[in-house]
Amino acid sequence: MSAGTGGTERADSTDSTDSPDYEAALQAFAGVSGGPGHQAPDPVNVPMIRHWVEAMGDDNPVYLDDAAAREAGFPSIVAPPSMLQAWIMRGLKVSREVEAARAAGAPTGDSPSDRVMTLLDEGGYTSVVATNCDQRYLRPLVPGDLLSVESVIESVSPQKTTGLGVGRFLTNRLDFTDQHGELVATMRFRILKFRPRLPTGADDGTRTEPEEPPAPQKTSGRPLRPRPALTQDNRFFFEGTRRGELLIQRCADCGTLRHPPRPACGTCRSFAWDTVRSSGRGTVYSFVVNHHPQVPAFDYPLTVALVELEEGTRLVANVAGFAPGEMVIGVPVRASFEAFDDELTLPVFRPDGDGDGHPDPDGHRVDPAQAQPRSE
Ligand SMILES: [Zn+2]
Repeated sequence: MSAGTGGTERADSTDSTDSPDYEAALQAFAGVSGGPGHQAPDPVNVPMIRHWVEAMGDDNPVYLDDAAAREAGFPSIVAPPSMLQAWIMRGLKVSREVEAARAAGAPTGDSPSDRVMTLLDEGGYTSVVATNCDQRYLRPLVPGDLLSVESVIESVSPQKTTGLGVGRFLTNRLDFTDQHGELVATMRFRILKFRPRLPTGADDGTRTEPEEPPAPQKTSGRPLRPRPALTQDNRFFFEGTRRGELLIQRCADCGTLRHPPRPACGTCRSFAWDTVRSSGRGTVYSFVVNHHPQVPAFDYPLTVALVELEEGTRLVANVAGFAPGEMVIGVPVRASFEAFDDELTLPVFRPDGDGDGHPDPDGHRVDPAQAQPRSE
């Protein structure tokens, strides 16, 4: 498999900021079984295949038509190879139990996989992003096959400097075997555990230095909200929210507004941009109420809205002040700013009682005419 992240990776670890003891403790996990495996709850079966291909819009006849499958050289109907993981998923009940334990702050387990993650957390590598998934299929799966899966911690990389921050790549391999114990597929899943950069400090070109902002600290026993991955393009937004300003990126050439922030204008392709301060007023364009899975830093049920600002751009944000079931599409809302911790302030949209477009009492309003209407 190939490495897809971290263009400035270095193979040596001599300039690691971690102690040799820590490095050795991490490397002791390489090649170790991740923990007990488990068997699929159901054998490969036609009803699950049928639902999958319908959901995916895959009309290849070899997945449901036995004659077509035989004509194509298969022994019978075969399962779509990319269904591999679906066969060994343990179901909603177990997932809920794990999430509930996590939300309660309980240790999630003591397998080597759990322990290497804990060790990385303790080293300050508290953020995580998936970087690669590589599946290999050794033979087609047919109805009646009963899979089992076991995991191996393949490697923990030396400390790397990446665009997201200083981190370590953790590669797990899942081995899928059939009812005869034969290997039928493998999946390598690679994540980057990294030290999040905090939105403090000047944007002075030192962003890729292996400086270690301290890991987010828990306040009142509760984990902090995830940090945004700051870039040159989105930093203004989070700096603005800390000052109580909702800023929208604006093309400096054609005036088109855009959100989320990105380097170039989709209308005229210009890289030049400035920002305009939003009135914070808008309407709910769409929303979801999230019940599951539950992440400890958030309160549930968690309503997340897509708000259409009166300037024309839309943004995804939390809402507050609505009773359960009260949220409806089109309801007027206005941005307030909530400091979730010392580093992170985000807009939270609340009901806009009058919705009359008059300036709000604390003057957080600009004339929408200052902003060009969005044309994307
Ligand atoms: Zn433009």
